Amino acid sequence: MLSGLLLTACALPAWAAVPPAIKTVSHVHSAYSAHHAPDMLATLQLARQKGIAAVIFADDASATFEYGLRPLRNLIKKTVAFNSVLRAGPEVYLKNIASLRRRFPDMVIIPGVEAAPFYYWTGDPLKGLVMHNWNRHLSVAGLERAEDYRGLPVLGNPRAAVWRWSSLWPLALLALSLWAGRAGWRKAAWAWSAAGLIFIADAFPFHQPSWSPYDSTAGWKPYEALASYADRPDLLCFWNHPEASSWSTPQDVGLKVKAVTAPYPEALALVPQTDGFAALWEGHRTMTAPGGAWDQALRSYLKGARRKPPWAFGELDYGGASANGVGLDDVYMDVHASSRTMAGVLESLKKGRFESIAKDAGRTVELIEWSVSSAGACASSGETLPDASAPQVRIALAPVGAPALPATITLLRNGFVIFKETQTLPWSRTVPDDPEELKRFYYRLDVRFGPNGVLLSNPIFAQRP
Ligand SMILES: [Zn+2]
Ligand SMILES: [Zn+2]
Repeated sequence: MLSGLLLTACALPAWAAVPPAIKTVSHVHSAYSAHHAPDMLATLQLARQKGIAAVIFADDASATFEYGLRPLRNLIKKTVAFNSVLRAGPEVYLKNIASLRRRFPDMVIIPGVEAAPFYYWTGDPLKGLVMHNWNRHLSVAGLERAEDYRGLPVLGNPRAAVWRWSSLWPLALLALSLWAGRAGWRKAAWAWSAAGLIFIADAFPFHQPSWSPYDSTAGWKPYEALASYADRPDLLCFWNHPEASSWSTPQDVGLKVKAVTAPYPEALALVPQTDGFAALWEGHRTMTAPGGAWDQALRSYLKGARRKPPWAFGELDYGGASANGVGLDDVYMDVHASSRTMAGVLESLKKGRFESIAKDAGRTVELIEWSVSSAGACASSGETLPDASAPQVRIALAPVGAPALPATITLLRNGFVIFKETQTLPWSRTVPDDPEELKRFYYRLDVRFGPNGVLLSNPIFAQRP
């Protein structure tokens, strides 16, 4: 039986069979998110009908925005708060997850957040304000303890604010008032003590966000902070929709308030602590093109300049059947996990043992074989072939939902196309390769079918003495 198994062509028992694919969807919103997505129960029922075995939720970590007037930004401020995990309370969120796990014992239910670590303001309240980068998002999945959520370094999370000595500066006004009182300047003493008390009230409880939303110079530091926080063996962290252009022109989000976020493909290189990026679906354009941002990041891993190889994830940004026009299994991942558990699925996602797939009009493609072998050794997705003296790349693809399906199959080595053909699936081929003088290299596979169908493999690495 080939279907469902990603077999390698290798003789060694260790490589004989990669576990069957667990159909997994990610970036699924629920009623804990800002924009009224369906509740988790309805989504899980639909997922089960569609043969999805694992669901990774990405509910808004925080969806609370604030703008305060200078110089009393905390006392005189407008706050807008939408549903989010931190607003509902992580204990409530996790309790709901626990009860759904009892109700859907056949499914892997992975809690998690979509987080905007930072945003900043420009403009002024009279002429118009612009909120920047609210839509620059990272998914963090696998958060199982309430304190994991409470510690998330994101704007809008009061627990993420840090104590600063500088917030005690109004004490200087009180000291001045004492000094003025002793000198007999009673009016000045009263004025300074009143000002001191007002500013102390504004600064209370003397904690500030690590990066101020009124300062545009934080750059990528807030994102590095979140990616470092999530850089744990039990958590998965990847960039959401880095090439989405839907917020690239400023959009009205309130009276005299606009929001803007430019696409951010550079994030993959600039924040290397993540496990990768959502290559599918929203806005995917340049990052997976040969030699694009993904290949550049993979080459930087080969050179030792990056600790972790970045993987290409498939995400939905699902908010219900009518939101975004995206169905629950329009984009999914075939995850080759040895156990059908959260730990098993997350481990395989962190090790690159999966393919990301966008369907085309109900038709899709399954990667039946994906391996590189040489001299009796073999490696598959996410693995490294230690002695690739004469590498043979084995590819087998099968259509799902159609008896035959034309597809364009591209095999890349280090971001350069070494094989490209349009064939009718089912199809298989062994491609012998001669990487000449290369010492470290990788292969990846890119399959396109119909106007919207895409299958992206994750890379197989190889090296030679
Ligand atoms: Zn988002
Ligand atoms: Zn989202």
